[in-house]
Amino acid sequence: LPEQEAFDIEYWLLEEAKLQRMPKPKPLVGKVALVTGGAGGIGQAIARRMLAEGACVVLADIDEDALASVTADLAKAHGKDHVRGVRCDVTDEASVIAAYGRAALAFGGVDILVSNAGIASAAPIDETTLALWNRNQSILATGYFLVAREAFKLMKAQGTGGSIVMIASKNGMVASNQATAYCAAKAAEIQLSRSFALEGAPLGIRSNVVNPDAVIRGSKIWTGKWSEERAAANKVDEGDLEAFYRDRSMLKRSVFPEDIAEATYFFACEDLSAKSTGNILNVDAGNLAAFTR
Ligand code: NAD
Repeated sequence: LPEQEAFDIEYWLLEEAKLQRMPKPKPLVGKVALVTGGAGGIGQAIARRMLAEGACVVLADIDEDALASVTADLAKAHGKDHVRGVRCDVTDEASVIAAYGRAALAFGGVDILVSNAGIASAAPIDETTLALWNRNQSILATGYFLVAREAFKLMKAQGTGGSIVMIASKNGMVASNQATAYCAAKAAEIQLSRSFALEGAPLGIRSNVVNPDAVIRGSKIWTGKWSEERAAANKVDEGDLEAFYRDRSMLKRSVFPEDIAEATYFFACEDLSAKSTGNILNVDAGNLAAFTR
C-alpha cells in the first residue's frame, strides 16, 4: 500500500476503536412505555427491560398491592422519576382513559403500549359458562382493544408514531385442552393487532404480537388453580409441569418472562424493528413449528 493509504487505514481503525469504547446512548431514552398487567410476572419483566433501555414506564394493573410493591422495587432500581404505578381495570373504559391521563401528566405522553394484562381459565367446553366466556372476552379481547384504542388516539394526537405490542399467546394460534374461551379471546387479540397495524401505518404507529408459550416461573397465572388444571389436562404432576413444557419443545428449553421481555423490546425499539408491523413473534422454543411428540 502507498504510505498515505496505510496511514489513512490506521487512523480510521483507531477512530473506530475509540467509537466502540464510547458509551452508546440507550435506545429508549425519551420514550414512555405503558405496560398493562405490569405488576404480574411477564409485565414486570417487560417493564424492567424497557427501563434498562432508558424508557420511562407506567405500570397499569388492577392488583393494587402487587402494583405498589413492584412500582417501589422498580423505582429503587431505576429512579423514582422513571416509574409510575397506576391502578387500572382494562375492562373499564373510564379507568383506561384515566390511566393514559395519569401517564400524560407524569411523562407528557405515551410512545409504547405493551398490552399484557390477562387471566387464564380452564374448563371443558360443556362446563364453559357464559360468565366464564364473558370474563375472558372482557379482560382479554375487549381489554386489549380499549387500551390499544386509547394508545392509538394519543399517539395520533402526538404525531410522532409509536409502537403497540400485544402479548397474546400460543393459544391464539392453536387450541389447547380445556381453554376454549381463552383461546378464542387470544385469537381476537392477534387479529386486533393486525387492524391497528393497518390503520396505524400511515401515522407511523406499528402494532405487533408476541406469543408466549407456557411461562411457568415468575408468573401468577401459573400458580394455584390454573397450574393444577393444566397439570390435570396434560396428565402430569403439577411439580413436573415446567419439565413437561420444556421436554415437548423443539429446543428443549423453558420460556421465562425475560424471554418475552426481550421479544417485546424488539418490537418496541424503532432502531430494531422500524419495518415490522402486523407481525407475530412466537417465543415458544419451537413448539408451534412442528409436532415433536
Ligand atoms: P400474571 O398473572 O403474572 O400477570 C397478569 C397481570 O394482569 C396481573 O398482575 C393481574 O393483576 C393483571 N390483571 C388481570 N386482570 C386485569 C384487569 N382487568 N385490569 C388490569 N390488570 C389486570 O400473568 P402473566 O403470565 O404475567 O401473563 C401476562 C400475559 O401473558 C397475559 O395476557 C397472559 O394471557 C399472557 N400469557 C401468559 C402465559 C403464561 O404461561 N404465563 C402464556 C401465554 C400468554
